[in-house]
Parts: sequence; structure tokens; C-alpha cells
Amino acid sequence: MTRPRSSPDVLVAGGGPAGVAAALTLASQGADVVLVHSAPVAGRRVLESLSPLARPLLQGLGVLDRLPSECHAPCYGNQSSWGGPALTASDFLHGPYGAGWHVDRAPFDAALRRAARAAGVRLHTGSVRSVARHGGRWQATVSRTVMTAPYLVDATGARARLARRLGARVVHTDHLVAVAAEVPLTVPGHDGPYGTGGGPERTSLVESTPFGWWYMAPLPSGRHVVMAVTDADLVAGAGLRTPEGWWAALAATRHVRARVAAHHTTAPPCLRVLPAGTSRTLPPAGPGWAAAGDAAAVTDPIAARGITHALATGISAATALIEEADGDPRAQDRYAALVGAVHDEFLCARATCYRAEERWDTPFWTRRRTPAGVMNDQGQAPRLLLPAETGPGATPGSSH
Ligand SMILES: Cc1cc2nc3c(=O)[nH]c(=O)nc-3n(C[C@H](O)[C@H](O)[C@H](O)COP(=O)(O)OP(=O)(O)OC[C@H]3O[C@@H](n4cnc5c(N)ncnc54)[C@H](O)[C@@H]3O)c2cc1C
Repeated sequence: MTRPRSSPDVLVAGGGPAGVAAALTLASQGADVVLVHSAPVAGRRVLESLSPLARPLLQGLGVLDRLPSECHAPCYGNQSSWGGPALTASDFLHGPYGAGWHVDRAPFDAALRRAARAAGVRLHTGSVRSVARHGGRWQATVSRTVMTAPYLVDATGARARLARRLGARVVHTDHLVAVAAEVPLTVPGHDGPYGTGGGPERTSLVESTPFGWWYMAPLPSGRHVVMAVTDADLVAGAGLRTPEGWWAALAATRHVRARVAAHHTTAPPCLRVLPAGTSRTLPPAGPGWAAAGDAAAVTDPIAARGITHALATGISAATALIEEADGDPRAQDRYAALVGAVHDEFLCARATCYRAEERWDTPFWTRRRTPAGVMNDQGQAPRLLLPAETGPGATPGSSH
């Protein structure tokens, strides 16, 4: 085993939005930060909608102007068919922060890490394998290196790898999955992948169905991501295990089918199954450490606020560690209470959102009408039953 050239003040594990936001916040206060980043599983994060609310956070971190246009395209709002067959639109342009973005996650995250490096954060490629407290410092094994630091941030994503090693529990309220495909869509007669102007191709589209809901949005590269979202134990019954079944389910929609049909495309060759369940980590912080982003709490993708939450909690976790280092013994308790309150608010908003769809008494929807949240017929959160990939030539999906 080798030791790094000097021990940092803070070790941040995870190079997604939460880890970068924490690292940038700490570095801006003069902390020596090492950000340990393991290469993400290919295809685990593809396209996501970034709320306009993320703009002031990115601006405050000093990275808004450092994100190249290849990794994002404007998102002018959402169209949804939810609670009724008609399509309704919500327009971001009337909000205080203007348009949101459709972000291509791999280049977006890479651009964030480059910005962190430019701000003085030391990037280290590898995986934190273990962590333990010795003599008031964290000792972490990172690949074949031992690193020590007085403070630690777990930004490893939904599995909260470090928090769990420190005794925290990840409590799930559902086992939602997204069965996703990238489809090449072009607009005949237009020069760009989206066509010109700000028409429906520059909005995301959500459509509820008896088994769950569909989501569709354009990647900056010109392809589109289309995903069917349901509970893990309902995938087979909905026919979503194979590209052919998935395509047939898409054909039974109204608005997603119409958007896809306009582009003369065919069934995708493979599907990815991405775990998308809601969970919270208890506790999300303790003396000398804090979890941020999905490692602290995971929100349902219907809210499209995971990246914004990751940036915000990354900043707040870093602030709590700085306050603790300045002698405030209650800083981590306040941070944990904040994470809990935000997650409780999210759960209320999610319940209201799902209850607005009353057309079907199918398992997906009736589970969401129970006071306890998403439960199966035995009164338990349904278990994840799926392999991580499906269909011929499937690309590996998430290994959450
Ligand atoms: C299907 C789906 C659709 C979604 N859609 C949206 C959307 O439209 N809008 C939105 O805002 N959010 C969306 N989300 C949520 C969003 O993806 C997450 O909330 C966000 O990525 C969380 O960021 P993070 O930095 O906490 O974690 P992650 O992005 O998961 O980053 C964690 C990083 O840590 C690394 N890592 C893991 N273990 C270790 C280790 N031991 N050592 C070092 N590094 C490690 C991983 O490789 C990864 O790079 C969606 C999620 C899903 C599943």
C-alpha cells in the first residue's frame, strides 16, 4: 500500500453532482480536498432534465459558464398527459430562472469534475473500498492507496456505500425501475436533431399508463431517451422485458407514440433497466462525515429534481463540515434535520402527484393511494426482481 503525497482536509467519495458541489464549496473556503471518483457504470445515467432551479446553484459554484454546450440542450418545459388523456404544458420560461436543460449525464459530470480540478480540488480516480475512524481521522482504502482525512463526504450515489459502512441504513419506500432505450429521432426537413425553434421537441413528455408512466426527452446528441417507468415486480406483466414488448407497450400510448411516429423510427435493439426507487439514508450525517445527493436521499424521477437536490445537499453537507471544523457541535444534526425535512416534503408532493391520476385501479396506482406509500399486496415495499439488463445486445444498466 502507498500513501498519497499529503493528507487532505476532506475526502469526498463520488464524482457526480453532489460530490463536485461539496468539493467546490469546501475548496472555496480554503480546504484541501481530494475527490475520489470511480468510473460510472456505462449507460447508468443517460439523459436527465435539469430544473431551472439548478441554475443559481451552478452559478454560485462558479461552474455555470464552464459547461460545454455538447452536454446540454435547452428544455423549455414539460408536456404531460396525467389524470386525463389531454396533453397539458408547463412552461419554464415564465419562471424566474428561465429554461431548464436536457443534460447528457456523462459529459455533464465530466465537465463538473474539470471545473472542480480548475478550482484546486485534487481528483483521484479509484473506488473507496473501506473507511474507518482511527485517532480522530478517517482512514480510507482507495484502490491500493490509504488516505486519511479528518472529514469525509459520502457522495457515492443511491447505495450510500460509505454511510452504510459507518452504520447508517438505507430505507426504501419503493422499487421503481425505468426501462429505457435511446432512439434516433430526426426531424425531416430540418437541419438539426431537434428541428428548429422551441417546439415540443425541446420539452420533456410524460404520459401515464395503467402500469406506470412514460418519459421522453431529447439528448443533446440528437437521439431521444424514452423510458417506461413502473415497479420492478410489474415489468414482466407490462410486457417490458423485451424490446418487442416494450415497443408494443409504447404503441399503446397516445402522445409518446405520436412523437415517436413522427420520426419514422423502429424498435430499439436493446433496453436498459435502471433502478429508480425512492429511499433515504438514516442518519445522513454524523461527527466528521456527511452524505450528500442520492447517498443522503433518493427522489422519484417523476420529480426530476435529483440533480438539483444533489447540488444543494452537496453545498449544505460541505457547509455543515466547515461549521463543525469551526467548533459547532450541532452542525451535523442541523444538516441531518434539513435533509429529513426536504425528503418529507418531497414524499408529500409525490403522494399528491400520484393521487392526481385516478383513472386506473391497477397495482401501480392503487399502491400509491395507500397512506403508507408504495406497498405491494403483502404490505411490503416490492422487491427488485429484475436483472440489470434485458434484450439482445443489452448495455449494462445500473448496478444500484
Ligand atoms: C431513471 C432515472 C431518471 C432520472 N431522471 C432525472 C431527471 O430527469 N432530473 C434529475 O434532476 N434527476 C433525475 N434522476 C436522479 C439523478 O440521476 C440523481 O439524483 C443524481 O445523479 C444524484 O447525483 P449524486 O452525485 O448524488 O450521485 P451519482 O450521480 O450517482 O454519482 C455518484 C458517483 O459516485 C461514484 N461512486 C460510487 N461508489 C464509489 C466509491 N466507492 N468510491 C468512489 N466513487 C464512487 C459513482 O461512480 C458515481 O460517479 C433520475 C434517476 C434515474 C434513476
